[in-house]
Amino acid sequence: MSYRIGIDLGGTKTEAIVMNEAGEILSRERRPTPVADGYDAILNNIADLVFTLEQPIGSKAHVGIGHPGAVSVRTGLLKNSNTVCMNGMPVKADLERLLDRPVRMANDANCFALSEAIDGAGRDANVVFGVIMGTGVGGGIVFHQKLHQGLQHIAGEWGHNILEPDGPLCFCGKHGCIENFLSGPGLLHAYRKAGGNQGDDTKTIVAKAANGDALAEETMQLFLDRFGHAMSIVVNILDPDIIVLGGGMSNLERLYTEGRDALARWVFNDELLTRVVRNVHGDSAGVRGAAWLWPARGEND
Ligand SMILES: [Zn+2]
Repeated sequence: MSYRIGIDLGGTKTEAIVMNEAGEILSRERRPTPVADGYDAILNNIADLVFTLEQPIGSKAHVGIGHPGAVSVRTGLLKNSNTVCMNGMPVKADLERLLDRPVRMANDANCFALSEAIDGAGRDANVVFGVIMGTGVGGGIVFHQKLHQGLQHIAGEWGHNILEPDGPLCFCGKHGCIENFLSGPGLLHAYRKAGGNQGDDTKTIVAKAANGDALAEETMQLFLDRFGHAMSIVVNILDPDIIVLGGGMSNLERLYTEGRDALARWVFNDELLTRVVRNVHGDSAGVRGAAWLWPARGEND
């Protein structure tokens, strides 16, 4: 029996699980990420979690880590992480030294996609596009249950495709990225720009729209149409069997009906066979996907 430890390194918490070959979670531990204490403390925290979790197993586990940002293929240094003290650091090499074993790392949206592709909503699909719509927008591509990270590890990063060039300025330096429209803050921005109440949060906007508020409904219609537009770019290129949604905005029921209808209107085809579904693993998808960076059935083991 070989065990995997998956780590989901977040900006506020670090979560770790031990998973067996059947994908069952045997134990789980969550700790705050010691961001204020800096880079070394964050890495030592991960190492301590691994050693603690593998004590009852009695053997060394494979370790996979899901994280924000990307490890540069050219330099091996982490970039684009919102935990800024990690950026520019050789995270993978340092962890491999601390843990005395090879470590696999992938972006958190990629881990989400992998988890849903292997034993989640996309388990019977050959090509899965996993989408995170939360405070940011990201995505991951899985072919035949194998993560496709791409030459530069940016495969699936549709959140920074430009949807409307005259849109809001994105943190990436461009204007009108998909993330600026389909994230939670994006919905809020559109609502306020249209004259909506500054104090309303996303839940309030959704509820107001359901109760017939014209401005909230108009904002939701625009949001759903932009979802269809943005998603059609992915479908026209990748044509996945299934699109699995995750992140806070994925709780919006209308995405699976009206959002999908909008996609059908935007896509370059006279019909839409693509399934657009909710994720199965919820908040555990990231940490499960990190564990699945070490695939089952002996591949690369
Ligand atoms: Zn951007």
